[in-house]
Amino acid sequence: MITRFAPSPTGHLHLGHAYAAWVAWQAALKAGGDYLLRWEDIDAARCRPEYETSTLEDLDWLGFAPDDASMRQIERLPAYEQALASLRDRDLLYPCFCTRRDIQGEIAQSGRAPHGPDGPIYPGICRQLSTAEVRRRIDGGEAHAWRLRMDRAVVMVGNLTWRDLEAGEQMARPEIFGDVVLARKDIPTSYHLAVTIDDADQEITLVTRGLDLFESTHIHRLLQALFELAVPTWHHHRLICDAEGKRLAKRDAATTLRTLRECGATPEEIRVRLGIDEG
Ligand code: GLU
Repeated sequence: MITRFAPSPTGHLHLGHAYAAWVAWQAALKAGGDYLLRWEDIDAARCRPEYETSTLEDLDWLGFAPDDASMRQIERLPAYEQALASLRDRDLLYPCFCTRRDIQGEIAQSGRAPHGPDGPIYPGICRQLSTAEVRRRIDGGEAHAWRLRMDRAVVMVGNLTWRDLEAGEQMARPEIFGDVVLARKDIPTSYHLAVTIDDADQEITLVTRGLDLFESTHIHRLLQALFELAVPTWHHHRLICDAEGKRLAKRDAATTLRTLRECGATPEEIRVRLGIDEG
């Protein structure tokens, strides 16, 4: 059994991260397995080394120090490129030159705006570009993302299922996202692609993460099938909210572990607050 906690070093950890780390730590501990930390640092402009240091210090303080913290997404761009190339070879990707404004304009004009879990579904503007036009625009240095031809991918893999420890067996429904971006304009990968490739390369058997990412798993399951990767089990856990019931975010300084510690909180008090005092 191998679990992981995958923070982005873009801020100090808060109570929600502490809970996510605990879920991964606790599951590995119970099974006598390994608990890894992976740095989701592809968004280099927002990541800072001091947040890595503070993350490790906070986890150590709580008693959830990882067994290993050596994997960094920023060092793995060749692995993501290889995965993209394999999709391109099967004609499952197309370059998308659209700006946000192009997409909004198209949606407004068509009067239809089907929504997926992440917002409006891409209306397919760049899907039909001719090979010559694609060549011309890429050769001209125009910035582009790479999108998955969802309909084709779904037909290729057939029906898929995945299992969540709390929600049980799920039918994979990646089509609800439409043609997702697998490589961004500014970064040659995306969360969905990187997380799928990394979890497989780290041989993660139980993927633990917040319920906010539940729907994303439909995409990850599809990518696993396309790349013929091993399929883990998932545990999408509850989210830690503030007094108003709003999910905690990095900008809420009051709930960072750093601030709580400076105000005199002990790791035991944090556990009680998270409802994990038994473990
Ligand atoms: N990096 C993501 C986050 O900080 C976690 C993604 C995942 O666990 O799959 O929310």
